[in-house]
Amino acid sequence: MQSKRYLVCLGFLLTLLATGHLAGAQDLSEYSFCVDPGHGGSEPGAIGPTGLTEKEINLTTSLFFRDSLEAAGATIYMTRETDVTLSLAARSQLANAMTVDRCISVHHNASTNQYANYTGVHVYLDTPEIDLHMASKIVTRLDSVLNIGVVSTNCGTWGIHADNFHMVREPNMPCCLAEISFISNPAEETRLRDSTYLNTNATAMHIGLAEHMETSPEPPPPTLDVPVFHSVLNDSTGTQAVIRWFKHLEATLIGYRLYQSIDGVNWGSPILYEDSLFAGDTTVTIGGLDPEQIYYFKMVAIDTTFANPESDFSNIYCLSTTPTRPPVLIVDGFDRRSSWLSPGHPFAGFNAKSLHNLDIMFETCANEAAGNEVNLEGYDALIWILGDEGTTDETFDIREQSIVQSYLEGGGKLFVTGSEIGYDLARGTAGDQAFYRDYLKATYVGDDAGDYTVTGVSGTIFQGLSFSYGQTYPEDYPDYINASGGSTVNLIYSATRNAGVEYQGTFGSGAQEGKLIHIGFPWETIGSESVRDQIMTRVMTFFDFPTDVPGELADGSPLPGEFQLFQNYPNPFNPVTTISYQIPSKTMVTVSVYNIQGQKVSSLRREEQPAGHHTVNWDSRNDQGRPVASGIYFCLLQAGSRRFTKKMVLLR
Ligand SMILES: [Zn+2]
Repeated sequence: MQSKRYLVCLGFLLTLLATGHLAGAQDLSEYSFCVDPGHGGSEPGAIGPTGLTEKEINLTTSLFFRDSLEAAGATIYMTRETDVTLSLAARSQLANAMTVDRCISVHHNASTNQYANYTGVHVYLDTPEIDLHMASKIVTRLDSVLNIGVVSTNCGTWGIHADNFHMVREPNMPCCLAEISFISNPAEETRLRDSTYLNTNATAMHIGLAEHMETSPEPPPPTLDVPVFHSVLNDSTGTQAVIRWFKHLEATLIGYRLYQSIDGVNWGSPILYEDSLFAGDTTVTIGGLDPEQIYYFKMVAIDTTFANPESDFSNIYCLSTTPTRPPVLIVDGFDRRSSWLSPGHPFAGFNAKSLHNLDIMFETCANEAAGNEVNLEGYDALIWILGDEGTTDETFDIREQSIVQSYLEGGGKLFVTGSEIGYDLARGTAGDQAFYRDYLKATYVGDDAGDYTVTGVSGTIFQGLSFSYGQTYPEDYPDYINASGGSTVNLIYSATRNAGVEYQGTFGSGAQEGKLIHIGFPWETIGSESVRDQIMTRVMTFFDFPTDVPGELADGSPLPGEFQLFQNYPNPFNPVTTISYQIPSKTMVTVSVYNIQGQKVSSLRREEQPAGHHTVNWDSRNDQGRPVASGIYFCLLQAGSRRFTKKMVLLR
């Protein structure tokens, strides 16, 4: 047996030698690869000094690469095999649909400096170890045949560059993008006209890839997708939250866990588990909530067939409880993972906090639910979150454009911020451009304002403000825009670049006056909570909400002699602590204690009280008279429409 296998191997090797495919000596038959020749058809890519196009040498090199890998037994999927135009989305979708082991894009670089010429390989921003391993093997092999050198790195390995490119971001498997050499360099362009040269480069990439497959670190185990909220809405009771989510696509899913919080920061253990939230469920109603309170929710999915049976957290959605429709709907249209890397984001909660300070009630839904199950009519204002959602995921698709149009034509008010809205719509159809111009009241100018400080324009709602943004997550391509269709620039990056517009008047064929604020960077990237509050206050004032809240300064701190909840004493405590507060006038007062899961534990007081200083004790028992466990609790004072919380620690 031993000698027979030897003979077979030798025969295989001889065949390879005879056909010039020594690179294929390593058997790759258990692997499949996606090979993506960059550009094509109407998109030539870079063009050399004498007219050689990048698309043709990318294709020739990729076909050699394919042939070489196929000779080693690999299964190859080409995104294109001819000179055709192909979107980036179509390329990554092919790789994902074929569930290949690796995806490699083939490009050649260009520079305005004709002397520039070096080899480089690109990986994604957070640079998974396995991608970096592949990139380093390929760049080393390319460098050894090209001898044009490599340049610096931003991710720890010389010659490798971490970038937010579609073809290193969107494929679900380890991937990289090679910029083999510079077509803009005259001597290099001459070499690139020689197909033998291209074949040599392809062979080098094959050897690098084969070395990677042989020595690759184990790929990370597949992760369970996070649940995706549909909406968190009130019903007519005013004390229930109706929570809906989209059906999870994992066939082996067991169920979900739901978390609840009253501040969006402190979360305890789940309030519901997979023994009551089953895989097929898409909705649950949470009862027993206090009226006119904020509640935050998030979920995980559970599937024990995964190495980590618990998914990451979903987005955070939230509401203020009310038996009538609240005036504001937060629409979450941000589901791109790019600058914000976690699968779930908390940004509806950011809006909730700022609205809460203004005593404005709200609820939350996903953009897919808006205008479908969630009727936009009846909300006084929409806050539409788009983050850095861009062209791949569409900021406003045709359906969303149409519901926003009707909403604004019907006299609605829209606050919409995001860094790629103009970028996306300006590159779209004539309809996309018209929507941007006529309804978001702006024209797109450029993709990267390059400035992270903005100033309010005199005579507009942002007059007197100057602040920075881009702290919550990196914001690398803030749009700069111009006013359009009667809007006014209200926020500027610099004397020549505008960041925001405001508009008051009718929209399209509508007869009722509506209002709009649009900013070319995401509001939630403003790192300072008090600045976010200021912006929200200006916007909501413009939207005709009463925002002159008595008894509280702009930063949320109470005025002297006004409402105040003091820190409980002692704290930590066991088992009794005293809660004290003051009220400036005769007021209906409620004092209650919540656990870290946002569930009410004890009602301490509910009565009308005169102005002055008051105290109440808590003996660390719940409403059933039973002692509660050690841990963090919140005291919540509601006095009229004002609410205050303090964190308390029970140590038994
Ligand atoms: Zn290219």
